[in-house]
Amino acid sequence: MTKQFTADVLICGAGAAGLTLAIDLARRGISFRLIEKMDRPFHGSRGKGIQPRTQEIFEDLGIIDRIFAAGGPYPPQREYRDDGSFTESEVMERSAPTPAEPYHMALMIPQFLTEGVMRERLFELGQRVEFGCELVGLEQDQDGVTARLSGKAGEETIRVRYLVGADGGRSFVRHALDIGFPGKTLGVRAVVADVVLTGLDRTAWHRFNDGAMDRQMALCPLAGTELFQLQAPIPLQGEIDLSAEGLSAMIAERTGRSDIRIHAVHWASAYQMNARLADRYRDGRAFLIGDAAHIHPPTGGQGLNTSVQDAYNLGWKLAAVIGGAPTALLDSYEEERRPVAAGMLGLSTKLLDAAKRGDIRRGREVQQLDIGYPGSPLALEKPERAEGLFAGDRAPDARLRGAAGQPLRLFELLRGPHWTLLGYQVKRGAVPARTGLHIHCVGPTEELIDESEDFRRAYAVSSGDWVLLRPDGYIGAFVGSEQIDTLTRFLAEQGLV
Ligand SMILES: Cc1cc2nc3c(=O)[nH]c(=O)nc-3n(C[C@H](O)[C@H](O)[C@H](O)COP(=O)(O)OP(=O)(O)OC[C@H]3O[C@@H](n4cnc5c(N)ncnc54)[C@H](O)[C@@H]3O)c2cc1C
Repeated sequence: MTKQFTADVLICGAGAAGLTLAIDLARRGISFRLIEKMDRPFHGSRGKGIQPRTQEIFEDLGIIDRIFAAGGPYPPQREYRDDGSFTESEVMERSAPTPAEPYHMALMIPQFLTEGVMRERLFELGQRVEFGCELVGLEQDQDGVTARLSGKAGEETIRVRYLVGADGGRSFVRHALDIGFPGKTLGVRAVVADVVLTGLDRTAWHRFNDGAMDRQMALCPLAGTELFQLQAPIPLQGEIDLSAEGLSAMIAERTGRSDIRIHAVHWASAYQMNARLADRYRDGRAFLIGDAAHIHPPTGGQGLNTSVQDAYNLGWKLAAVIGGAPTALLDSYEEERRPVAAGMLGLSTKLLDAAKRGDIRRGREVQQLDIGYPGSPLALEKPERAEGLFAGDRAPDARLRGAAGQPLRLFELLRGPHWTLLGYQVKRGAVPARTGLHIHCVGPTEELIDESEDFRRAYAVSSGDWVLLRPDGYIGAFVGSEQIDTLTRFLAEQGLV
C-alpha cells in the first residue's frame, strides 16, 4: 500500500476523549483528522462531574478557567423523607486545596458545555471537528491504516499512520479490530433527562426515596444552565414515556408531589448499566481510548474523566513516536491505562451497590489524584527510594519564587507539551539542554527558589536530586547526580535526544 498519508492520525469520534486527544496533538503540531458521525454536537448533560485530576489536565490544555466559568460547584444533596422533611449533606467530602493539590473539589458542568469549551480551544489551535463524517471501514498493514469514511460528499478513502478509536461504548473501531469487550450487564436500567421544571429550588440536589430502587428519583440543578438533570432507576423491561407529561407523572408518583412540573425535555435517554473492559487497547497501529475501551455505571462520575485521561496519556506518546521516538513507547499506553480502568470499573460498581442501599458517599478515591503508573516501563528510580513519592506517581504542584522575584506555581512551568527536569541544589549545566526538555534548577541562588519548602516537602528531595516530569504530569524519573548517564539514556529512549 503506497498511497500517501493524508494525515498522521485519524481520530474517530469527537466526544470528550477524541477532543482531548485532538487538542493535545494540535498543540504538538501533529497532523490529524477528527471525524464525528453525528451532524452536530451531542447536546445531553451525561458526564457532569469534572474531577480534580482532570482539572489539572484542563489547566495544562489551557481551558481550566473557561470550564470553571461555565460550570459551578455541586450543591448539597437534600434527601427527603416520606413526610416531606429532609436532611442535607455534602455530595463529596470537602477539603481545602493545598499547595501540592490546587484543585480539590469536583466541578459540575454538563458534558455538552465541557465539549463546547474543548471545541473552542481546538478552533483556536487551528483545527475543527468534521461533523457528519463516519468511519465505515478500516484495514491496516505494517506502515499505516487505510480508512473508509462516509460523509456529506460521499465516500472517501484515506491513509494515516495511526488510527484512534474514540468512538464510544459501541465502538466501530473495537468491533472492526475484533477486540473482545467482556464484562457484565449490571441489571440496572435508568432514565437520565435534562429538563426544564418548576417546583424545586436550585440550591440542592433533590433526592427522593434513596435506597428504594423502584422509587428513587434524583433531580440535580445543572450548573451553567437553567436545566435540571433527572435520574431515576426504571424496570428492566417495558416502554418508558420520556415526554414532559410522562416524566412529570413519574415524579408525582415517586415523590407524592404534584407541584413539581416538567415543562420541556431537552434530552432524555433510558439506558442499561454495564461494566465492561476491552481485552486490548491496541491492535498494531490502532488504539482505543475512552468509552470505546471501558464502560461502567455513572456512579462516582468517573467515565468522562477516565476518557480524558486516556487521551492525555496517549497524545504525547503518539506525537513522540511520529517525531521519531522508539515505537516501544506506544506499548506503555495499554500497560498504564488498562489497569486504571479495571480499578475504576470496580469503584463505580461498588458505588452503584452503595447507591442501591441509599448510602452513597464519594471520598478521595473518586478524585483520581492518586492514580499513578508504578512499575511502568517509563518509571526510572536510581537509587530506589524508600519513602515519599516514587517514579510513576502524579507530579504534585508547589509554590516557588522565580529568581526575578515573582511568585509562581510549578504547574505553570509544566504547561505545554514538553518534558521538565528539575534539579534540586544541583550543579547547573550538569545535564545538557535538549529539544523538548525544560531544565530548571531549584536552590537559594538558582532560577527557582523554594522559599516555602513546598517543593522539597512534596517531592521529598535532597540536595543533588534530579526529578524528571513527563509531559502528562507524572514523575518519569528520580535520580541522584551520580546517575546522570542513566538519565541521559532514559531520555533518549523517550525520543529526547
Ligand atoms: C447517564 C450518564 C451519566 C454519566 N455521568 C458521568 C459523570 O458524572 N461523570 C463522568 O465522568 N462520566 C459520566 N458519564 C460517562 C461519560 O458520558 C462518558 O464516559 C464519556 O462521554 C466518554 O467519552 P468518549 O469520548 O469516550 O465517548 P462518547 O462521548 O460516547 O463519544 C464518542 C463519539 O464517537 C462518535 N462515533 C461513534 N462511531 C463513530 C464512527 N464510526 N465514526 C465517527 N464517529 C463515531 C459518536 O457519535 C460519539 O460522538 C455518564 C454517562 C451517562 C450515559
